[in-house]
Amino acid sequence: MTAPKPGFSQLRLEGVTRRFGSQNALSDLDLTIEAGEFIALLGPSGCGKSTALNCLAGLLPLTGGSIWQDERRIDVLPPERRGFGMVFQSYALFPHMSVRANVAFGLRMRRLPKQEIRRRTDEAIRLVRLEEHVDKLPGQLSGGQQQRVAIARAVVLEPSLVLMDEPLSNLDAKLRLEMRTEIRRLHQSLGLTTVYVTHDQEEALSLADRLVVLRAGAVQQIGSPQELHTRPANWHVADFMGYRNLWPMRVQAAQAGEITVEADGLRLVGDPVGQIAAGDQVVAAVRPEDVRVDDPHATTNTVPAEIEVVEYQGRELAAEARNDAGLRVHVRTDKRIAPGDRVTLSIDPRRLLVFPSDSVERPAAGLADAAEPGTLREPRLVP
Ligand code: ATP
Repeated sequence: MTAPKPGFSQLRLEGVTRRFGSQNALSDLDLTIEAGEFIALLGPSGCGKSTALNCLAGLLPLTGGSIWQDERRIDVLPPERRGFGMVFQSYALFPHMSVRANVAFGLRMRRLPKQEIRRRTDEAIRLVRLEEHVDKLPGQLSGGQQQRVAIARAVVLEPSLVLMDEPLSNLDAKLRLEMRTEIRRLHQSLGLTTVYVTHDQEEALSLADRLVVLRAGAVQQIGSPQELHTRPANWHVADFMGYRNLWPMRVQAAQAGEITVEADGLRLVGDPVGQIAAGDQVVAAVRPEDVRVDDPHATTNTVPAEIEVVEYQGRELAAEARNDAGLRVHVRTDKRIAPGDRVTLSIDPRRLLVFPSDSVERPAAGLADAAEPGTLREPRLVP
C-alpha cells in the first residue's frame, strides 16, 4: 500500500468543549496535531478521552470550539466526510463475513473498481500479517487477530487520520505488547497520523510522539513522553506517570531551585515545580525506582524504614517500606531485601518533585489514615 497522503499539514482543535447537561465532559481542549504525529490521549476513566475522540470523529457534536484541517473547518462535517479511520476496543467486525470481506467492505462501499479493491485489500492484509487467515470468519480468530482485521479495515481506506479508542484493552498482556509494536510499525511505515486513547501510561509513553493528559475533562499537560516522565506539570500527572510515592507535606523553607518540606518529623529536600512558598501545603512525589536502598554515599534525604512487603519482578524487587512515623514508601531495587529488614532509604533531592497541593483532594498514597473522599486531610503520617 502506498503511504496515504495525509491531506493536511495540521489538524487544530480550538477550545473543543463537550457538555452533557451540566457536566463538562471535555473543556476547552486546544491541540495542534502535525501530519505524521502519533498523539496519545491519556487519563483515568471518565476524564473525557473518548469524548475527545468522538468529537474528532464526528460521532459527537461539539458544544463549543472548532476543529480545523489547515484552513478547512471540519467539526461541521458528518463523520463520513472527514475521511478518518476508526479502531475501537470492541473490534466491531461483521461476524458473517470473512477476513477479506471485512477488510474490503469500506472499499466496496466506495464502489472502487474490483481490481483495485483486491489489490488494496491484499496489501492491507499483508501489512497486518493475516495472509494465512483471509478466508476465516472473525469467530475463528484470536482476539489479537481480530484486532488486526479491524486495523486493516481502517488503514485500507488510506485515511488522513486514524483514531484508536483503547484498541488493545481486550487482549492479554503478551498480545498487547505484540500489537503495540505492530501499531507503531504500521503508523511509521504508512506515514499515518494517529490519535490513540488509552488509560495505560506505559502504552502511551511507548507509542506516542506526544501525550495529552486529561483529568475531569480538562487538559493537565501536553508534552513528549520524556517531558511528562521527568517533569509532570502537577501531582495528578505525576500520579499518572508512575510517581507512586505522593506525600502530603508542608514547606519549611523555599529558596530558588530547592525546597525543604516536612511532615511528622520527616524533613526532605526537593525540587519545586511551580510557585511554592514557605508554609504552603504541598505534595512531594518520587518514583519507586528513584528511592535508593542502603546507599553508602547518601547524605541527604535519608529515611530509616522497615521493609514490609516484597514482590519479585524479574531482575528487580518491588517493595513497600514504612518509616517510624508510618510513612509508606514504594521502592524498586535490585538489592536483596526481605520483609522485616531495617534499611536506610534515600532520595536524590533532584528526583523529589514538590508540587503545590492544588485542591481539597489529597493523594492517598503513603498515608495509613484514609480520609473521607473530598475532605482536606492534614499531612499526618500516622500508622
Ligand atoms: P473511559 O476510560 O472509562 O472510557 P473516558 O476518559 O473515555 O473514560 P468519557 O467516556 O469521555 O471518559 O466520559 C467523560 C465524562 O462524560 C464521564 O463523566 C461520562 O460519564 C460523561 N459522559 C460520556 N458520555 C456521556 C453521555 N452520552 N451522556 C452523559 N454523560 C456522558
